[in-house]
Amino acid sequence: MAFCKICKAPIKGRANKVFCSTKCKNFYHKNLRSVTKKEAYSIDQILHRNRSILLEILGKTGQKIKVNRLLLEEKKFRFKYLTHFHVNSSGKMIHYLYDLAWAEFSDDEVLVLRK
Ligand SMILES: [Zn+2]
Repeated sequence: MAFCKICKAPIKGRANKVFCSTKCKNFYHKNLRSVTKKEAYSIDQILHRNRSILLEILGKTGQKIKVNRLLLEEKKFRFKYLTHFHVNSSGKMIHYLYDLAWAEFSDDEVLVLRK
């Protein structure tokens, strides 16, 4: 006999059921989302801030611009925080922050681009 993951009531019906009712199932998923939201908050803030810095540098319509790395450092850009990455055909790593991105060109040059 299986027991509900939330209220521990015995579960009737299909053998692989985890919850006794829709109410317990909804409670579980609502809680899971809320815990994730809370734990992800501080990193989300860093990612949003990083994207804002790139947007500020690019402007609303800019497609790409090469800037000195110092400019990003002065704005407290957190280089280690990104949403995803892509290595292009020349082997260069493109670091994404949502729809905006950056790539390192030399020790002091960074290309900021919109994808
Ligand atoms: Zn239950």
